[in-house]
Amino acid sequence: MAEFENPYAQANPLVRAHFDCLSCGGKLWEYAIQNRMVCEDCGELFDSSDVFDASLEHE
Ligand SMILES: [Zn+2]
Repeated sequence: MAEFENPYAQANPLVRAHFDCLSCGGKLWEYAIQNRMVCEDCGELFDSSDVFDASLEHE
């Protein structure tokens, strides 16, 4: 049986981000490797930089 190494599984790339979804306000999870975030409610993908910029504008 061939072993398949999944680098994403080893890196545990999903990290809970301290940001809300820009579309629905749900919780965002961050893909550390791809520098993207995904919403757990609507599933929308965002670039991390876009989310950072949006959060700064709210301050
Ligand atoms: Zn959402």
